[in-house]
Amino acid sequence: MTRITFYKGLREIGGTFVAVETEKAVCMFDFGFAVSDRCDDRIRLRPRSAVEDYVRIGMLPAADGIYEEGPAALLGLTSFRNRKKEVFFFISHMHIDHMGGLGMLDPDVPVCMSEDSLRLYHALADEGDLLFRAHGSCIGIPYGGTFSRGDISVRVLAIDHDVIGASGAVISTPDGDIAYTGDYRFHGFHPDRTKAFGEICRGADILITEGVTVSFQDVDMPSLTEPEEAVRTEETLQKEMACAAAEKDGLIVVNPYNRNVERIHRLIGTFSEEGRILALDPRQAAYVAAFYPDDDIRIYEGTLRGRAGAGKCPVVLRDEILADPGKYVLQLDYQDLYELLDFKGKISHYFHMDGVPLGSYEECYKKMSAFLDYLHISYENVGLGGHARPYCLKNMIETVDPGVLIPLHSFRPEQVNSDWIRRRILPREGQTIILQKGEVIE
Ligand SMILES: [Zn+2]
Ligand SMILES: [Zn+2]
Repeated sequence: MTRITFYKGLREIGGTFVAVETEKAVCMFDFGFAVSDRCDDRIRLRPRSAVEDYVRIGMLPAADGIYEEGPAALLGLTSFRNRKKEVFFFISHMHIDHMGGLGMLDPDVPVCMSEDSLRLYHALADEGDLLFRAHGSCIGIPYGGTFSRGDISVRVLAIDHDVIGASGAVISTPDGDIAYTGDYRFHGFHPDRTKAFGEICRGADILITEGVTVSFQDVDMPSLTEPEEAVRTEETLQKEMACAAAEKDGLIVVNPYNRNVERIHRLIGTFSEEGRILALDPRQAAYVAAFYPDDDIRIYEGTLRGRAGAGKCPVVLRDEILADPGKYVLQLDYQDLYELLDFKGKISHYFHMDGVPLGSYEECYKKMSAFLDYLHISYENVGLGGHARPYCLKNMIETVDPGVLIPLHSFRPEQVNSDWIRRRILPREGQTIILQKGEVIE
């Protein structure tokens, strides 16, 4: 008998936490932070009780067998050291709502993820881009490879999302197979990966899928037909940027999401073909260098802030940009916004493309807009997002055609549906369902 417990992340976007427990092992996924309006990263962590604090405010789950002795005792939980079964994690991708809590686990908990996710995780750690500390027991699995403990095995499968290394998984137990999508889309550089994921998972006993894009308005998914208008993709964005680079005279500024490393890698080439140099901040440069060491990576002087440089990457000076702004594109993180003050009258356009602030729902989005307006800088949002459009969600669930569909990671998971679906469960927080010889019992 396999027990599947849905702890968190069911009717919200973030903090998905599910435990699959067999006779011998427990596989858990993912381990990010719930997006919470009672939390603010301007409030300082208390190092002596960071784990307990995050569990007590509901950012992390109160689960047995995953925390160190101290926090577990305080929270009335069984520690990892005193666990009764093999406990391990699968992490689908390096977005904070899926991996932010890793450093708060007992350092010895095995955590499997794709090889590329692990590479990015190491780069995040090197750049001080993790909230607490780096987790010590991560295992990188090549796409298509399997990680096993006890009687559970996890096959890590590539899927396209707006972060490098994204994966879904098939979790195989003696009672049947559970497919978990993580986050996915069909409008990235690799729609083939997402399609292949659905085909590999066809006939799974259970499909657990995200449903982000049906969160914000009424959607009647079963009646959706293929949209007629062309969907903008990562390739479209590259073409748009090539046009902008050719047509605009002055400096172009872009604000992408820095973990979508493949987009930056491609932008370096796209802008170079139009005779422009893309100058990065050192953190972005480090993420690109971790995956594409042969790229022509340049760093903008103004973002170095006392850093001695970043490896062998040449530095682009402020004066060089001022002398010939039409030869450059500046990648600028929100936290470096004041750098724009040095280029008054030289900036042609600011393209916001999925960087921080991540959306208009963030407080600082209004501030960014007001700042750009004040400086009379023209700007637009050309972001693509990382989640499958509702029609594509439907396509995925019909391709997999699972025994039971379980939508989560959505404000309105009840909207994730298809007429083809034989059975659907919308679990309550804390609910356990049973998988026994391919049958699901609520
Ligand atoms: Zn997510
Ligand atoms: Zn994500």
